[in-house]
Amino acid sequence: LREVIALHVHHRHPPPRHGRRRRAPAPPPAPHLFSDPAEIEALRGNLLAWYDRCKRDLPWRTLATTELDADRRAYAVWVSEIMLQQTQVATVIDYYNRWMQKWPTLQALAQASLEEVNELWAGLGYYSRGKRLQEAARKVVSELAGQMPRTAEDLQKLLPGVGRYTAGAIASISYGQATGVVDGNVIRVLCRLRCIGADSSSPPVIDRLWDMANTLVDRSRPGDFNQALMELGATVCVPKAPLCGECPVKQHCRARRRVSMTPKSGPEGLLCVGGCPLCPPATEPWDSSLGVTNFPRKAAKKQPRVVKTATCVLERRGCHGAPEYLIVQRPNSGLLAGLWEFPSLLLAQGLQEEKQQEALADHLQAWMGWPVAAGDLQLIGEVVHIFSHIHQTYVVYSLPLDGDVTLDPASSPSRWVTEEEFHASAVSTAMKKVLGDTWAFPSFPLGSSPQPLSPSTPSSGHRLLRDGTFHVWDHRRAVLR
Ligand code: SF4
Repeated sequence: LREVIALHVHHRHPPPRHGRRRRAPAPPPAPHLFSDPAEIEALRGNLLAWYDRCKRDLPWRTLATTELDADRRAYAVWVSEIMLQQTQVATVIDYYNRWMQKWPTLQALAQASLEEVNELWAGLGYYSRGKRLQEAARKVVSELAGQMPRTAEDLQKLLPGVGRYTAGAIASISYGQATGVVDGNVIRVLCRLRCIGADSSSPPVIDRLWDMANTLVDRSRPGDFNQALMELGATVCVPKAPLCGECPVKQHCRARRRVSMTPKSGPEGLLCVGGCPLCPPATEPWDSSLGVTNFPRKAAKKQPRVVKTATCVLERRGCHGAPEYLIVQRPNSGLLAGLWEFPSLLLAQGLQEEKQQEALADHLQAWMGWPVAAGDLQLIGEVVHIFSHIHQTYVVYSLPLDGDVTLDPASSPSRWVTEEEFHASAVSTAMKKVLGDTWAFPSFPLGSSPQPLSPSTPSSGHRLLRDGTFHVWDHRRAVLR
């Protein structure tokens, strides 16, 4: 979201044509502004005092304050910011510590292989982030003499994958540049502080929020101020049930004041008269049952694309009798680039189960170079995985093999792995679910034909798995969510 916001802003202003000047946008109406210097000063002081008292101890914060070398400091902040995009702090901590232990400097990261990066990133999601981070580190080492750009403007201009938000965060936290940041948490806090109810993902509103962040940022402690604003959004001014009573800036919050207004108390300058570009739209006015969570508002989310993929767990007995699985590497670009998976085939919409099985058998046959009968594939179930923009269903089949398989060297890179090696490989969370699903269901003996499930096998039921996902099965078909 942080980079999408930055992208909107970045591409919004085309260069003026024919020498004509772009007209400056009208200033926002007073209720949505921070225009009183005394109030700004008070807000900064209150927020920073709260941050000093209540901030969470996080490894990247420690590095940002203890690391003396500016390049190492900027690198440490950069890694944390990329990992934190669309990912919770609690999940990131362990990944961050392992990453910084393995690649403590830009130079170390630049020498790593994509395979190593993907292995460490496995499970964190949005895999292109790790790849882009490494590409940018290589650029700093090879083209910028190993020195990180020293301003937000240069960071954004020179480093691939670094947008306006990340550049502002690195520059303010690592170098003390007085520049604001706008991410999802900051949007929520600012929209509530100033009753901004227009679509908060629209470029004009995002522009206003950047202006506001740049106005508010504390000149002497910009990095701490930005982190404090984000921390407030993450821990107090949360989306559904904000803790307004504990909020250090509640006296500056116009959404809170709006909640306490009665019809008799009058608008107190909190409402604009007609056609305000920052107020809630007339079609969705203030809803008193929502309180401060009237803000922010977003346009309806686009529905994710629905995709179905057939995937086959090819299994053999390894030299010590333990099962081994065949995994193949995905192409180096696109979704889950460079990651490993079970041999898979994207299915056409609306394909019947029988046809899916035949299509997968043909695919495996072409890939392995020896006959695979559709009937040999045992249907295990379905695994549903939600990517940010894709609702992916994997239809999982299993195929036990007797003996080795010699693959065409021209096909995608592949290898046999034990279960332990599988989990240590650069595989996605969805593929881990697929293997878990395969283990959860009775398999037929190696080298034999698929058998119908025994009469003692329950025909339907459900159970909660240890990772919190819900496992439902119905006859032969399992659906894992
Ligand atoms: Fe958010 Fe409530 Fe604080 Fe306003 S008072 S900024 S709504 S937590």
